[in-house]
Amino acid sequence: METTKCLIIGSGPAGYTAAIYTSRADLKPILYQGIQPGGQLTITTDVENFPGYPTGVTGTQMMEDMRQQAERFGTEIRTGIVTSVDLSKRPFTVTVDDKHQLQAETLIIATGASANWLGLESEKKFQGMGVSACATCDGFFYRNHHVCVIGGGDTAAEEATYLANLCSKVYLIVRRDELRASKAMQSRVLNNPKIEVMWKHKPKEILGDDSGVNGILLHHSDTGEERKVNVTGVFVAIGHTPNTALFRDQLELHPEGYIQTIPGSTKTSVPGVFAAGDVQDLHFRQGITAAGTGCMAGIEAERFLLEEV
Ligand code: NAP
Repeated sequence: METTKCLIIGSGPAGYTAAIYTSRADLKPILYQGIQPGGQLTITTDVENFPGYPTGVTGTQMMEDMRQQAERFGTEIRTGIVTSVDLSKRPFTVTVDDKHQLQAETLIIATGASANWLGLESEKKFQGMGVSACATCDGFFYRNHHVCVIGGGDTAAEEATYLANLCSKVYLIVRRDELRASKAMQSRVLNNPKIEVMWKHKPKEILGDDSGVNGILLHHSDTGEERKVNVTGVFVAIGHTPNTALFRDQLELHPEGYIQTIPGSTKTSVPGVFAAGDVQDLHFRQGITAAGTGCMAGIEAERFLLEEV
């Protein structure tokens, strides 16, 4: 069976940064790109908060740059989806596309998390043209605009508060008559004069034209009344799902499903398995934090192998 010193699953900033570090350490890593090559950044438009790009860069270009940088040092980048893993003994066995198996002395998991979406056709149509799942990433483009945030949890409350600093008006669309967010976040939202909470409203359709979003159609769950609100940005904040299904019974997971890592490191509950990026990050979920933990995972994998010699 084919063997490798280091196998990386995932091709977002965490996976590619781990690849750059492990290939420069001569581990000759193999990286499987997964379902969405380039990861979540490929569904955003411009990235302006990643250091080193003074005039900004598109998410797809940045991921292409990272891919080329990883390849330059010898990472073997493969298309394919890891369909199962056996972490019960080393070397770990990894199955790709349900047929091809290989063994890895170390494994770096960088499978990310996926934003939950409402499931509307119009939401898909306007992704990157007014629909976003990250206010920190895209809020800047809506300076002085009217926008809305969907959701009632801590993320929605945090995003609404963040956007209220930039935008002239923020509607927080909540499907029930209460927020799930912590009391502290609730009071920030409810006391912010720029935020208007629309209780018991559910998005029915996102409206727009060739130049992007220009409104949202809402449905009141008690009265059935429909209401159109004029906004140019729709921020969906209804939770994230970490891509950890493959590891559920083999690694310790956080109650929310994220991979548990030892604080200050990317080590998981199985020696030799490291987790980087959003798959282990409940709090920040930024490209730069993913890249940072990817770097840590690369260095920790290298040290792990050195300590064995
Ligand atoms: P969450 O707590 O699961 O909240 C999701 C919100 O979206 C809920 O209000 C939910 O409504 C709503 N929602 C779900 N599906 C919907 C749909 N189809 N249409 C409309 N609304 C929908 O997710 P989260 O806010 O991302 O937080 C995840 C975890 O991270 C939580 O444990 C949270 O405390 C934590 N977090 C912490 C911080 C912090 O400490 N600073 C910041 C962000 C997140 P219902 O309430 O009706 O179910």
